[in-house]
Amino acid sequence: MQEIKFIKSENLKQKPKDISKVVFGTLFSDYMFSMDYEKDKGWINPTIEEYKDIPLSPSNSTLHYGQAIFEGMKAYKTVNGDVTVFRPLDHLNRLNRSARILDIPEIDVEFVKDALFKLVEIEKDWIPTEKGASLYIRPFIFSNDANLGVSVAKRYKFMIILSPVSAYYSAGFAPVKIMVEDKHVRAVIGGLGEAKTPANYAASLHAGVVAHQKGYHQVLWLDGVNRKYIEEVGSMNILFKIGGKIVTPALSGSILDGITRKTVLEIAKSWGYEVEERKISIDELCECYDNGSLEEVFGSGTAAVISPVGELLYKDKKMVINDGKVSDFSLKMFNYITSLQQGTEKDNFGFVAKV
Ligand SMILES: *Cc1c(COP(=O)(O)O)cnc(C)c1O
Repeated sequence: MQEIKFIKSENLKQKPKDISKVVFGTLFSDYMFSMDYEKDKGWINPTIEEYKDIPLSPSNSTLHYGQAIFEGMKAYKTVNGDVTVFRPLDHLNRLNRSARILDIPEIDVEFVKDALFKLVEIEKDWIPTEKGASLYIRPFIFSNDANLGVSVAKRYKFMIILSPVSAYYSAGFAPVKIMVEDKHVRAVIGGLGEAKTPANYAASLHAGVVAHQKGYHQVLWLDGVNRKYIEEVGSMNILFKIGGKIVTPALSGSILDGITRKTVLEIAKSWGYEVEERKISIDELCECYDNGSLEEVFGSGTAAVISPVGELLYKDKKMVINDGKVSDFSLKMFNYITSLQQGTEKDNFGFVAKV
């Protein structure tokens, strides 16, 4: 196992006094982790050093061809002072799944987990302790050839940066309005939808802008071939409560295997709910709305944990869910998962890893 080089920073920053004033993703801790990949040497130079700008060639292959992947997870300081990370191995294993899809060299998950824990331990004073706040962890890999030739790169960089974030719902657990996208498509089976890669975000930005102009927060994607089956919400998976059952689109090959999605399904099963992962068409959803069996709609993702949906717009059909108010299951699930993360609820699932 390689030794991680530690370079002490002389420029330690002020930590925020009021985390609720910090905009998501704009503030970073003092240190970052990085290592390089070279074709003949594998992953080398693991280093923890000051968070700072990095030199980049104008011909950097990622800038031109986008061979890059990332993860997003969170560290917490629990009520009894433990430092924990939520499902770190699931996230790092998914990073390797994304790596395989984009022909990026895989990482040694155990080595990177140790490096991540070391970084979080060094930066533990950056973990905000306000309710719902956490230290967001962003591992990412990008191709690092200085070469405009189109090919799989020979050099890569892996980095982990840390960003203290406040509770997603600073103004209370509020439902969002979502527009079902029937023109643009984000991903198709056989494409990149299963990978956590910048390309999927690039493909989603324009539709997001249009949705914003119409007064909607986010876009719900339909399958790219028929524009009929429900996929996911760009940075969240989507779940429904229909006639008492928890229903979510099956992992079709074009949506992300979300770790919060998986967490919700495991917990729902343990509570005795029937859980269905299957194809669900937008027409079926409209029917369920019309006959009153669509009880709840909510998104799942690391950033928000659970995001209740108060309204769905499909073409001209406006579906107001539960009078636009937060519903019971979504709220109970949100409270349960955040209690596991804050250490106020005992973790019988093995989700919480102690640093
Ligand atoms: C990250 C992400 C999600 C949510 O996944 P989690 O593992 O729950 O954070 C959902 N969809 C896409 C496209 C994503 O990139």
